[in-house]
Amino acid sequence: MDHSGQNLFDTKRVNRARIYNLIREKGNVSRKELAYTLQLSLPTVNQNLSELMEDGYIRESGLVGKTVGRRATVYSICEDVRVAIGIDITKNHIIIVCVNLNGEAIYRKKVRRLFERSSQYSKYLSELVDETVECLKLKEEQVAGVGIAVPGLITLEGDKIFYGKSLNFTGMTCKELAGFIPYEAELYNDADAAGYAEAHIGNVIPDSFYVSLNNSVGGAILINGQVYRGERAKSGEIGHMTLEPEGEPCFCGQKGCLDVYCNATVLSEHTDGDLGAFFESLNRGDQECMDIWENYLRYLALGINNIRMLFDCKIILGGYVGAYLEPYLEELKKRVIEKNPFEKESDYLKICKVKGEASAMGAALPFVQKVIDQI
Ligand SMILES: [Zn+2]
Repeated sequence: MDHSGQNLFDTKRVNRARIYNLIREKGNVSRKELAYTLQLSLPTVNQNLSELMEDGYIRESGLVGKTVGRRATVYSICEDVRVAIGIDITKNHIIIVCVNLNGEAIYRKKVRRLFERSSQYSKYLSELVDETVECLKLKEEQVAGVGIAVPGLITLEGDKIFYGKSLNFTGMTCKELAGFIPYEAELYNDADAAGYAEAHIGNVIPDSFYVSLNNSVGGAILINGQVYRGERAKSGEIGHMTLEPEGEPCFCGQKGCLDVYCNATVLSEHTDGDLGAFFESLNRGDQECMDIWENYLRYLALGINNIRMLFDCKIILGGYVGAYLEPYLEELKKRVIEKNPFEKESDYLKICKVKGEASAMGAALPFVQKVIDQI
């Protein structure tokens, strides 16, 4: 059987993708630079540039060079030709973002709304999506999809929450939650989504473990930029690693889980639910806050050391608490080193770069990737 036709088609696709990706990565790239960097002939580059321009994916973005007669046209991507919407659902809030093909948020909004499993709530989500689309004056075909991050475990198919104790929404389907949204929608675990965002637009580390220190503790295993979800979509659930076999009761029904000692409310409940206020008091030297923080760091260091023992990879600290951790990183590193029999350095420990909207961003980004993969 002759496969040469197929091979030619594959080569054409690969060349087109390589040209697009280099333009996306660098911006303002000339024909010559594309040909040289990708080792392609100028006619091949020219042909692909014409097609990509015709399809609306790239544009001429200026001229470079000193001599007027020899100035070369440079190209950039049309970053808003397709976009994706990401939603993060928490107990008290909804965050919605719109992300362009550069992975940049071009719209963000946070509203206070108590979660309830009802059609009113689901309708409200679709209203937020409509508002986003209207505000950005988007055409229907521009929206690649809507990703929804939730604090629950999602089936491998992405269609159902099979463990949702924190919001009491076990069994809720994507159709039930996103049925009023007129675009393709998918559910994501919030920690997985935040980890994905961090791996793609934050620290940009291909292999890492993302620790989500929100009102519950979760985690995501990132391998080559993709979330490793495990055999039954329960990977990375470090919140329920046992740190104290006879410790404090956890909402999961067990005792002494990491979640009990390191969720964000452990800190914020001392300052009327305001996490920022907790860190302000801590900075002022408030004794009660210092004691609570000491205990928090002690357990967080144990958890981090356990993760390092398992994966031997970079560990990114994120979630609500992660956003405040920078000034305490050295102290935390010191504690982690004390626990580690193999290492005297803990540079593997990083603070998240995507703060606040990581889960919403991470829910949108897979749709952006899908578009790019199809170009
Ligand atoms: Zn637990």
